[in-house]
Amino acid sequence: MADFKTTARLLAVTAVMVAHQGFAFAQMPQQQPDAKAFKLGKFDIVALHDAQFVQPNDGKIFGLDHSPTEVADLLKAAGAPTDTVTLSVDALLVKSDRHLVLIDTGVGGALQGSLAKAGYRADAVDEILITHSHPDHVGGLVLNGKLAFPNATIRMSETEWSYAKANEKLADIVKVIADHVKTFKPGGEVVPGITSVALSGHTPGHVGYQIKSGKERLFDIGDTVHSSIISLAKPEWAISFDGDKPEAEQNRVKTLTTLAKSHERIFAPHFPFPGVGYIAAEGDHFKWTPNDKSE
Ligand SMILES: [Zn+2]
Repeated sequence: MADFKTTARLLAVTAVMVAHQGFAFAQMPQQQPDAKAFKLGKFDIVALHDAQFVQPNDGKIFGLDHSPTEVADLLKAAGAPTDTVTLSVDALLVKSDRHLVLIDTGVGGALQGSLAKAGYRADAVDEILITHSHPDHVGGLVLNGKLAFPNATIRMSETEWSYAKANEKLADIVKVIADHVKTFKPGGEVVPGITSVALSGHTPGHVGYQIKSGKERLFDIGDTVHSSIISLAKPEWAISFDGDKPEAEQNRVKTLTTLAKSHERIFAPHFPFPGVGYIAAEGDHFKWTPNDKSE
């Protein structure tokens, strides 16, 4: 029963996450593999599902400087349950004629199953780009104490790698991946067609990845946003996951404003699977328009 192992592992990683970020998951539904493929210019893109977390609306995660009732009002207006907030954990696969690139690796949930469902093997991934070193983005790098993607170079910003190495709770992961990590300064091309973009506040070296092929673009904005409802309705509200909250709030408002104007397609790893779509301005805030079709 692979399911038992996966669940045990997921709970272990989740425990790390709880200890690290100071929050608890109310429920841990079964993690089901899912994959959604589409074209972006010459690239084949696949959104890969890893996990689904249901968090309590208890004032400890979302809207820290506001009441659960205010958060519930936003959820209600969006037609969602008001006592919990559901976040997906997803990753993005980008296949070009030269590379098979995975952006983030989930918490170690259903990602490997999702990759198989999409028709790819883990040993075919030759590049892994990390947005930041939280366990729900780097947890899938290691499987049973070994590299989960044995032939991949693992890239992250140099600031983020320093931050990860200083985090004792990531020691087991850091030890396994250390010889395979290459760092970069944000702002340049990391693999052909993919450029890193500094998006500050969530962690010290958090970046997004801009994917371009011909005239088409897709911007993986990492954890600039978390809930497709709360992060867009109230981007200026503090969330417990952000390391530097004022900086993260400023970055969130600025990034969303830019994206609403540019009408650029994005991938948000915690938005409802597959997390692909557009940000639109709506009054003094924003709204989410899912769109995962090939253009
Ligand atoms: Zn995250």
